[in-house]
Amino acid sequence: MEFENRYRQVSKYDCLLFDLDDTLYPLSSGLATACANNIRDYMAEKLGIDQRKILELSNLLYKNYGTTMAGLRAIGYNFDYDDYHSFVHGRLPYENLKPDPVLRSLLLSLPIRKVIFTNADKVHAAKVLRILGLEDCFEGIICFETLNPTYKSAASDGEDDIQFTGPRSSSNMTKCKTEIFDIVHHISQPNDLGSVLPKSPIVCKPSEHAIEKALKISNINPQKTLFFEDSIRNIHAGKRVGLNTVQVGTCQRTKGADYALESIHNIREALPELWTTSTIASESGSYGKVAVETSVTA
Ligand SMILES: [Mg+2]
Repeated sequence: MEFENRYRQVSKYDCLLFDLDDTLYPLSSGLATACANNIRDYMAEKLGIDQRKILELSNLLYKNYGTTMAGLRAIGYNFDYDDYHSFVHGRLPYENLKPDPVLRSLLLSLPIRKVIFTNADKVHAAKVLRILGLEDCFEGIICFETLNPTYKSAASDGEDDIQFTGPRSSSNMTKCKTEIFDIVHHISQPNDLGSVLPKSPIVCKPSEHAIEKALKISNINPQKTLFFEDSIRNIHAGKRVGLNTVQVGTCQRTKGADYALESIHNIREALPELWTTSTIASESGSYGKVAVETSVTA
């Protein structure tokens, strides 16, 4: 995916990179809780994992791999990515989200590139943005499919690409329990030098590799970019790769965050300079409407 540099900026920042879930809408919507429940249901219903072990396992995987999905793949479960996403997102209470004309107006008034960066899949990202009324406010979306192309394609960049080794169809889904890595045992035996945590083939935040790949794909200079996130570990990872960071969802600035916003609606109060810097439109001479070209592409 290529992004067009439409504006020559004479400012500290020339791009705003936004997480989606719990950043562009509040945690209180309940989608995050419902998503976590759906993931645990998937582990039980689709992967046949013992109900009594699911809570501890999902917490360990999330902590060690960024997403439970990435952890499940790392320890040996094989499943169709689209099937997983449709299961965990398909039953979310999207009705709790409402159009946000205030945020829409704020975003459209910002004469700076705006890009979404989410670990979620493109269907979920597009649905959330559509409901919030923000679908045309961003230049592009970096989502699960962007960082994890199932097959190599012209958009791939070679050596860093995911290698998909499993079956595509959920009907062919395999799970050989004898090959499942026992991460619970591994974590409980920290001195067991013979056991190494397996790597996941899935690329996602908060890995620095995932963030660097997203920056490369979207041609973003981290030093000139503000990264809006609710997750503090993603904030820390973003900081490590050179991004300027804004923690959303709290007014208490945590170490590693350059700014903190209780709500994304507070962006103007916290960062008024975003509206006052001089921006030169390189082509059209106008920047009244910033996002015009990219819907969801992956
Ligand atoms: Mg988030």
